[in-house]
Amino acid sequence: MNTIIALDPGNTKTGYVVYDMDSNKPISCGKIENERMLSQIFNGNTPIVCEFPYPRGQSISWQLIESIEWAGKFSCAAHMCKLSFTKMNRKDIKVHVAKSANAKDKHVRKALIEYFGGEKTIAGPKCLVCKGKKGIGRGKKKVECSNCKGTGLVEPGLLYEFSADCWAALAVAVTYYDCGSSKSSEVLMAESKDRKAQQQIEYRERRYAFEQQLNLLNQEMLKTMTAKQSAKMAAKGISLQKRIQKLTEKIK
Ligand SMILES: [Zn+2]
Repeated sequence: MNTIIALDPGNTKTGYVVYDMDSNKPISCGKIENERMLSQIFNGNTPIVCEFPYPRGQSISWQLIESIEWAGKFSCAAHMCKLSFTKMNRKDIKVHVAKSANAKDKHVRKALIEYFGGEKTIAGPKCLVCKGKKGIGRGKKKVECSNCKGTGLVEPGLLYEFSADCWAALAVAVTYYDCGSSKSSEVLMAESKDRKAQQQIEYRERRYAFEQQLNLLNQEMLKTMTAKQSAKMAAKGISLQKRIQKLTEKIK
């Protein structure tokens, strides 16, 4: 099975969702002590996708600082175990899931319920057709409920088990599933590095071409200078000098 573990690190506990990337569904979720999560990463072999806060130009709480510290420890553990670790920006997750960078937790939750098929995904095991009474009607007219086959119970919704702590981690998993690693900050950093490298190559090529031209001009200049035959040649020499100056400025 192709699974990932999505993390929402907190200062003492971390919310997680084990997510099946083949069927686009969560398998399990929970919130555990950070120390336990750390040892899980050390002993596991599932790729990790972790939420990171983004700078908002506001003062931050000790809680958030500690959460970031833990996210760093998780990242370090994953790297030591050669596990894939993807950082995901909280803002990108909010924008992807709830279509707004200012979305609150309740908006994210609502958007996720919609994503997985509406209110029935959070419904419990009680049959909604017979309201758990196993049949419809009263007395002799009572017939077995076809929805639950007379048991009063149905399979609970996919997200029934999800508590408040798991929604943020589920949002991480959904964003990762939909956008792949395109939303991960590490990839963005790598892309910008690539861009920088490409720019450097282009600059070097341009510079080389200029230098070639400059060499040719210099040679021509030298010939002119050594010839020293007439005023015409001297004039040519000055114009060449100007062109060389221009090129040198361009290179700089
Ligand atoms: Zn029923």
